Amino acid sequence: MGRPGAKNSLAGRISDDIVASVKRAADIVEIISRYVTLKKAGKTFKALCPFHAEKTPSFIVNPERQMFKCFGCGKGGDVFSFVAEHERVDFLEAVRIVGSAVGVAVPDGFERRGGVASHQLKGRLYELHAWAARHYARLFAEAPEAARARDYMAARHFDKETLEAWGIGYAADSWEALGRAAKAAKFTDAELVASGLVIEREGKAGYYDRFRGRVMFPIRDVQGRVIGFGGRTLTDSEVKYLNSPETPLFSKSRCLYGLDRAREAVVEGRRILITEGYTDALMCHQKGIKWAVATLGTALTRDHVALVRRYADRVVLLFDADAAGEAAVDRSLEVFADADLDVRVPALTPGMDPCDFLVAEGAEPFLARLDAARDLFEVKLDLACRRHDMTTSNGRARALDEFLGILAQIGNVARADLLSWPVAERVGVEREVVRARLAALRRPKRRAGDGPAAQPKAPPLDPVEHRILRCVLASGELVPCVLARVGLEDFQDGRIRRILEGCVSLYDQESAIDPALLSAMLREPELSAIVADIVLETGAGNWERELQECLDRLEARKRRDEYRRLREQAAGADPQALAAIQELHRRRAGRPPREPARELVPQEGEQGADAYDAG
Ligand SMILES: [Zn+2]
Repeated sequence: MGRPGAKNSLAGRISDDIVASVKRAADIVEIISRYVTLKKAGKTFKALCPFHAEKTPSFIVNPERQMFKCFGCGKGGDVFSFVAEHERVDFLEAVRIVGSAVGVAVPDGFERRGGVASHQLKGRLYELHAWAARHYARLFAEAPEAARARDYMAARHFDKETLEAWGIGYAADSWEALGRAAKAAKFTDAELVASGLVIEREGKAGYYDRFRGRVMFPIRDVQGRVIGFGGRTLTDSEVKYLNSPETPLFSKSRCLYGLDRAREAVVEGRRILITEGYTDALMCHQKGIKWAVATLGTALTRDHVALVRRYADRVVLLFDADAAGEAAVDRSLEVFADADLDVRVPALTPGMDPCDFLVAEGAEPFLARLDAARDLFEVKLDLACRRHDMTTSNGRARALDEFLGILAQIGNVARADLLSWPVAERVGVEREVVRARLAALRRPKRRAGDGPAAQPKAPPLDPVEHRILRCVLASGELVPCVLARVGLEDFQDGRIRRILEGCVSLYDQESAIDPALLSAMLREPELSAIVADIVLETGAGNWERELQECLDRLEARKRRDEYRRLREQAAGADPQALAAIQELHRRRAGRPPREPARELVPQEGEQGADAYDAG
């Protein structure tokens, strides 16, 4: 895709020369070495995977193919997928980061997908948030009106350094102060509305400030850019905390307050303390507990868990003692059940929030409580036993099921089994019984959705289509062989179809397929991982013969599907379809046609299906 004017059949999905030139300038080994320590192992490099916790390295970087793959957690792809995953940024941002590392300038607004406009808007929104953070912080420090905000924070024992370091601000108690100041600073109405800092008036022209008379907590992304705000009221009559709405920059279900400042300490100790309030996280840092973050007024989501897993192996969940209720534990179990993380829940004095506890007791007793925190599953078992009448067999069976229901969601069977042991003793049944019950509860079921991470595991790839893709990736010149016999629409697995579309497009332009370039233009982690899987595991072979054999199968399936389709039509007694069926069936079975009624016996068609599936 590098040549100017080259045909681009992926219709706007490739960002032309820039992605390709960054790609060519970047060496994946050099870039990944900036994040993890790579050890040479033959032709490849090995490391402990940065995306999951492990003790022996299963993370492989292949310099020849310019791809990486973890055989532990399955992550894989090219240099951009790695950076996107590691920095938790989108593809565009990953290209930018790699570009600046290798000295290839990536100009603003180069991206086609989503449009130049939306990319420029994002850039402006970062600027607007940075400006607003400075504006609020200045008010907090200087404005006479902000005295009550300063008093409030002082009363909560925050010192000046903390307030300054975290950029604590104040929003004037006015309907238009921020909007007007932002306009004077050359931000447009559209940008202000998109940022969520102002709200359009209903039914008439004009806008008003979202945050009024509040202490402002700037929310930053992992790279430290302000992407939103949380505002705490100073009166009793309003909602206590108000957050920025979802914007192109900000999604509260994916963001953890303070992670930008906590990251270093979190990575160092491989542990993270998750609190429920801005002030809790802030006070932890002030007291030297630098591995603390806070959720933004939402329950933890699987996106949060995925974020946390990048940096930590152990999670300490600090619920407000009041709310340390069963709901919070259940909800956490739901998102952490399958995360392979050590999750602990400390006990705090009821009625005292963590911030107050820290102020009153100091860091030492607080840390002691954290050290004494119990495993989330243990806490759950207690709750389950407390919730049911353990003096009756029914109650005990229900407690058992409630607990095993959680374990049944754990993908790692051995781990689930180990976690089920305590319940056997607690409920008073044999381990074997628990084991059998757990197995029975392990039916595949969909989880209630909370974003893309909640989706069930991707279904396996169609084996024949997968083999065809392997042939094409092993030997790019086979692309025309495929197209000579089947169309891309004959591939039923959307993932394989999209990858093949990319292959065809690359082949059109370069007469070869560079897997790393392919992966870059696919821009979807799932597809990149499939490509990496194939490329890194494929050795030598007779690809042309393999391909022809697979295409035979694909064609057979096509005929069979057509046969089925026609047979269904024939149920509506379409004489033309009946004739076509006879013809198809004769070809498939290699024998002369018989009378139609006999041909339409269902299991005949099923045999055709077996012939395909068995391959
Ligand atoms: Zn891994």
